[in-house]
Amino acid sequence: MSTHKHPKSSRPALADSAPPWFAEGVRFTCQPGCRRCCGGAPGDVWVTEAEIAAIAEYMKLAPDEFERSYLRRYASGRASIRERSNGDCVLLDEKGCSVYPARPKQCRDYPFWPEVMATPFAWIAEMNRCPGIGDGELHEAPKIVDLLKTQTED
Ligand code: SF4
Ligand code: SF4
Repeated sequence: MSTHKHPKSSRPALADSAPPWFAEGVRFTCQPGCRRCCGGAPGDVWVTEAEIAAIAEYMKLAPDEFERSYLRRYASGRASIRERSNGDCVLLDEKGCSVYPARPKQCRDYPFWPEVMATPFAWIAEMNRCPGIGDGELHEAPKIVDLLKTQTED
């Protein structure tokens, strides 16, 4: 499994309604060998300072060394992992995510992002990017709702 770049777009909040459209749960299983969500269209892989430190440690680099080589900083101060010219995350290699055990929360949470879970239409539309959506393991609604609550709105 690998994970996911966040498109440069606003993140609509999940409607505060009960029950959610996915009350019966949704199916998702990451597909072996797939890396689509770590590349493709330009996007951001947001990282917190704690995540920067954790990834740098995993790579046996000093945080400032990691920052110089792998991060871009926006005027807001937020940091995102750089991309290659083809849109791939720079931490993606031929085997998948090179920092998988230390990958950012954004990557670990995908596809359970507010904009993807906002409506059934958004969920179905995301199938164009992620072939694991709608397949395999059933993910129960309460856990998804709790996960969404842990995510910071951009
Ligand atoms: S950090 Fe890893 S999981 Fe996240 S987008 Fe980059 S390669 Fe993919
Ligand atoms: S696009 Fe979906 S199936 Fe492919 S690596 Fe990402 S989560 Fe897994």
